[in-house]
Amino acid sequence: MRKMPTQTTLFRFDDSYARAVSGLSVPWTAAPVPAPEPLVLNNDLATELGADPAALREPSGVGLLVGQVPEGTTTVAHAYAGHQFGMYAPRLGDGRALLLGEVIDTHGRRRDLHLKGSGRTPFAREGDGKAVVGPMLREYLLGEAMHGLGIPTTRALSVVATGERVFRERELPGAVLCRVAASHLRVGTFQYAAASGDHELLRKLADYAIERHYPEAAGARNPYLALLAPVVQAQAELMASWMLVGFIHGVMNTDNMTISGETIDYGPCAFIDTFDPGTVFSSIDHAGRYAYGNQPRIAQWNLARLAEALVPLIDERVEAAVEAATDVLGGFAERYEELWSEGMAKKLGLPAPNPELLADLLELMHSQHVDFTRFFRALAAGTARTLFTDPEPFDAWAKRRETLLRADREAVAAAMNRVNPAYIPRNHRTEEALAKATLGDMGEFHRLLDAVSRPFDERPGLDEFTHPAPPGCPPHVTYCGT
Ligand code: AMP
Ligand code: MG
Repeated sequence: MRKMPTQTTLFRFDDSYARAVSGLSVPWTAAPVPAPEPLVLNNDLATELGADPAALREPSGVGLLVGQVPEGTTTVAHAYAGHQFGMYAPRLGDGRALLLGEVIDTHGRRRDLHLKGSGRTPFAREGDGKAVVGPMLREYLLGEAMHGLGIPTTRALSVVATGERVFRERELPGAVLCRVAASHLRVGTFQYAAASGDHELLRKLADYAIERHYPEAAGARNPYLALLAPVVQAQAELMASWMLVGFIHGVMNTDNMTISGETIDYGPCAFIDTFDPGTVFSSIDHAGRYAYGNQPRIAQWNLARLAEALVPLIDERVEAAVEAATDVLGGFAERYEELWSEGMAKKLGLPAPNPELLADLLELMHSQHVDFTRFFRALAAGTARTLFTDPEPFDAWAKRRETLLRADREAVAAAMNRVNPAYIPRNHRTEEALAKATLGDMGEFHRLLDAVSRPFDERPGLDEFTHPAPPGCPPHVTYCGT
C-alpha cells in the first residue's frame, strides 16, 4: 500500500526514494539547534514550492528549516561513494546533511528539500556535522547567480544561523542551509550501489532515476543505456553553460555530479576574471585537475564512472555492455563542442559559429589578460578595445568580426546582452559580502544577491559589481571543507 505523504502545515513531504530504493539511505534526525535565526529566505523559491514564505518565518517554519520536523516525518541521510580527485572513496554519504523530504512543486515537479549542516550522521567520519554562515551563504548566492544565468542548479531555500559557534581554523557562527534539488542522485550514488554487489539494489536505483528524471527511457529497448544517454547529454549541456559564463566548480568529484544535470555543491567554486583555461582557485587542487579548461574532460571522466556502474544492467555480456556504453559516452564531446561553439557565436553576436575567429579571440584574451565577463558586454557596447593593453591585434580581429555581422547592429547588441551577464558574483565582492555577513551585517550580501539574481538586466547604481578585483589584490583562493 502506498504510504501517504507526511502532512505539515508547510509542506507535504513524500519519501519516494527511501521507499523505492531502501538501502541507500538511513533514517536520521537533525541535531538540536539552540537559537535558530533566519539569515536569508528565498521567497520566490518558497512560493514555487507551494509554501507560504511568511509561514516559513514563523518559529515552526524556521524550526523545519533546521530539521525540527513534525512527528511522523522521517528525515534520512543518503549513502553514496565517489571519486575524489580521482581516488575512489567507497563510503562518503551525507556526513552533515539530511533529506527532509520530497515535495511536488507548483509546476508538478518533484523536488528534494535537503539540509546541510544539520549535525553528524553515520557517514560523518571525522567531521563535526556542522556548517558555518559564510560558506552556506556562498552556496545560496552562487546558486541564485547560476539560476539567474539560466543554468540548471540546485537552489537554496534558506540559510538559518544556529546560534552555535563552530570550530574551523577559528570559531565561526554556525548555520544550516536548506537546499532544493531535482534530486540528490549522484554519479557516486550509482557507484555505491554498484560496489555493493547487490544487483537488485542497483536496478532499483536505476529504475528510480529513470522514473524520476528520464521516464522516456523506460520504454526503450535497453532502458539502462537509455538512462545513460540523457545524463551524458545533460552534463554536456551543463558543462557548455558553465564554460560560457566562466564558472569553475572547483570540486568535480563524482559525488558532486548529479544525474539530473543540475549543478550541485557550491564549495570552492568561483568565476574566472581574466580568460585563462588553467585557472584554479581551490586551495587543495594542486594539480589543477578541476581547472576551468579541464571541466568538460572531467565531466566526461565522471560519466565514464557512471557508465561503469551501469554496465551490469546494460548487458550480461560485459564486452557488449562496455561497447554500447562507450558509444553513448562518445556523444558527450560532440554535444559539448556543438553547444560551446553555438553559445560562443551568440556571445559574439555572430549568426553562426566561426572556429577560427573564436580561437584567435581566446588567444588574444588570454595573452592580454582580458576580463572574460566584461569583454562581451563591452563588445556589444562598442568599447571592448579599451580592455586590451595592446589594442591593435584586437582591432584587426574586430574588423574580421564586423564583416560577419548582420546589418541590424542594435538588434545584434541587444541579443548579445541577453546571453552575456553584466553581473556575476565577483570573487572579491563575494568574499567581502560573506565576511560582513559573518560579522552580522547582511546588507552587502543582499545588494550582491540582488545584482546577480538578474545578471543580464543592467541597472543604474550597480556598476561596482561589474569590475574585477582591483590590481594588487592577492590572488583569489577558495576552500573545501566548508
Ligand atoms: P563536500 O565537499 O561538501 O562535497 O563533502 C564531501 C564529503 O564530506 C561528504 O560526504 C560530506 O557529507 C562530508 N563532509 C563535509 N564536511 C563535513 C562535516 N563538517 N562533517 C561531516 N561530514 C562532512
Ligand atoms: Mg558533496
